[in-house]
Amino acid sequence: MKYIGAHVSASGGVENAVLRSVEIGANAFALFTKNQRQWKAPALKADTIEKFKRFCQVHQFSPDHILPHDSYLINLGSPDSEGLAKSREAFIDEMDRANQLGLKLLNFHPGSHLNKISEKDCLARIAESINLAVEKVPNVVAVIENTAGQGSNLGWRFEHLAKIIEQVENKQRVGVCLDTCHLFSAGYDISSYQSSEKVFAEFDQVVGNSYLRGMHLNGSKTALASRVDRHHTLREGTIGTEVFQFIMNQPQFDNIPLILETISPEIWADEIKFLRSLELN
Ligand SMILES: [Zn+2]
Ligand SMILES: [Zn+2]
Repeated sequence: MKYIGAHVSASGGVENAVLRSVEIGANAFALFTKNQRQWKAPALKADTIEKFKRFCQVHQFSPDHILPHDSYLINLGSPDSEGLAKSREAFIDEMDRANQLGLKLLNFHPGSHLNKISEKDCLARIAESINLAVEKVPNVVAVIENTAGQGSNLGWRFEHLAKIIEQVENKQRVGVCLDTCHLFSAGYDISSYQSSEKVFAEFDQVVGNSYLRGMHLNGSKTALASRVDRHHTLREGTIGTEVFQFIMNQPQFDNIPLILETISPEIWADEIKFLRSLELN
C-alpha cells in the first residue's frame, strides 16, 4: 500500500499538521517540529505531545508514515569545529523532539564541505554525527536525503549516501529519503518510465532498497544535471510524470511516506488524487 501526503505547516502547534493532512486526503505527512530557520526552540509541551499523538491515532497516521524534517541551519559535515558542535547539538535536539512525539524517522540534508575540507572528510563527519545522535537518542532512524548538489552540498550522488551509511555503526538507525527533484537536478535522468527503472536499479545496487525510508515527490523547474534545487508542481516542470507512475506501481515504495514538497499547497489534495490515479492495482 502507498502512503501519500505533503510537508504540511505545523503553525499553531505540531498537532495542526495532522488536521491539515486530513483536509487534503493524505495518509502520510511531513512537518517541522520547530521553526526550521532558528537554532533553538522551546521544548515541546506535554499537552502538545499528547494532542499530537491522539490526533495521529484518531486519524490513523502511523509513525512509519510521518517524516519530520530537521532545521535547514544544521550542517552535520561542517568543516569548522564550532559549527559542527552547534549542528550536532541541534540535530540531537531534533531527534529528541521526534522521539518525544512517538515518531521513528528524522529526515535531514547530509551536509556541506564549504570548500574547506575534502568530500571524504565531510562524509566521515556526517557519519560520525549520526553515530553520536543515535547513541544519545533511542528509536529514531536518521534519514539522509539526497540533494541536488547545489554549492558544496554532498549527498547528490548515490555513492555519497553509501559512503555515509558504510561508516554508521548501527545500520538499523540509518536510512535514505530520495527526492525526485533533487535526483533530476543532480543528473539522474528520471524523465521516462524506462530511465526511472534504471536509476532506481542503480540506487538498489549502490545503496540498497532496504535503506529507503521515504520519498519526496516533486517536479523540477531546472534542467537535468543543473545542480540547482527548484521544486515545481508534480505535473509541470522538466521531469514529466512517468517517474510518478513508476513509483506508484513498484513495491519498494510501499509502506514508506511519499511526501509532496511541491510549490502550490492549494493543489496538494488534487496532486494526491492524481498520484492515486496512477496506481494500476
Ligand atoms: Zn526534499
Ligand atoms: Zn529541494
